[in-house]
Amino acid sequence: MLETTSVGSFPKPDYLIKARNQFAKGELSPEKLKELELQAIKEVIQMQEEVGIDILVHGEMERGDMTTYFAENWEGFAISSLVRSYGNRYYRKPVVVNPVKRPKPVTVEYYKYAQSLTKKPVKGMMTGPYTMCDWSFNEYYPNREALTLAFAEVIHQEAVDLEKAGARYIQIDEPAISTRPDELDLAIRAMKIVTNGLKAKTISHICYGDFSTIYPRILDLPVDILDLEFANSNFSNLDIFKKPKFTKMISIGVVDVHTHTIEDKETVKQNLKKALQVFDPEKVLVDPDCGLKTRTPEEAKAKLKVIVEAVKEVKQEFGLK
Ligand SMILES: [Zn+2]
Repeated sequence: MLETTSVGSFPKPDYLIKARNQFAKGELSPEKLKELELQAIKEVIQMQEEVGIDILVHGEMERGDMTTYFAENWEGFAISSLVRSYGNRYYRKPVVVNPVKRPKPVTVEYYKYAQSLTKKPVKGMMTGPYTMCDWSFNEYYPNREALTLAFAEVIHQEAVDLEKAGARYIQIDEPAISTRPDELDLAIRAMKIVTNGLKAKTISHICYGDFSTIYPRILDLPVDILDLEFANSNFSNLDIFKKPKFTKMISIGVVDVHTHTIEDKETVKQNLKKALQVFDPEKVLVDPDCGLKTRTPEEAKAKLKVIVEAVKEVKQEFGLK
């Protein structure tokens, strides 16, 4: 009840940013880069344990951005030059030029390493098929539907491998869903392929958009837990979920990832209590709005800390264990 979790990414430490630049210029070996990625993962696991988070993430230290990373590790892609997204952030948009294939597992080794460092569950983390399609150029498949369903097949293979490796939670991020509500049915069909037959608890993180355009249809997304942002809109979007009643488990974002300011505990508690009037406490998890990679390491830790402290007090006040 009211378990706390992290969404996905954490800021890369300075030594890793430097190493990634050196690697890109051919000045650092892949082995040395990997050693530093594992070091950063270890630090992120230790930090979450120290703060007292219940369900951990490995922090995506090996990933540049959430689509290009998979495109670089699967077959069927060329990588474009830099494309602008979300204001002033740039990424290398993948270009699909051949059938999408997964020659070998991509995330499993990092998951296993992170899980070996803690007794708490670590989430397996992937980008969802709809978002992979929406954030790629398609120069091979006849349409977006065909491309999304092709992504769903390879992501399903990765999910099965994560489960075999011991993952109890598998998160399939779909931030693009709420920006294109007209394609929600396609996203749901694709997720059915991804989560088919899995026993692990499945989570989908969705952010950026107006949830009123996808609710209640989003309840048909075949995952156990929906992870949504609330803090960025100051919980004004809570009303959307009052009717009809929310039927799934929900992970509630209670701190804003876009501001340097650390929320005060009382505000987080007030907002969480407001949310508990809409969602059943036994079906609620608590986390930041989104991945924390754009914050400093100190801010990321402070934001997690205020979540853990607020949740602890709300649980006491509500008599929850
Ligand atoms: Zn997000």
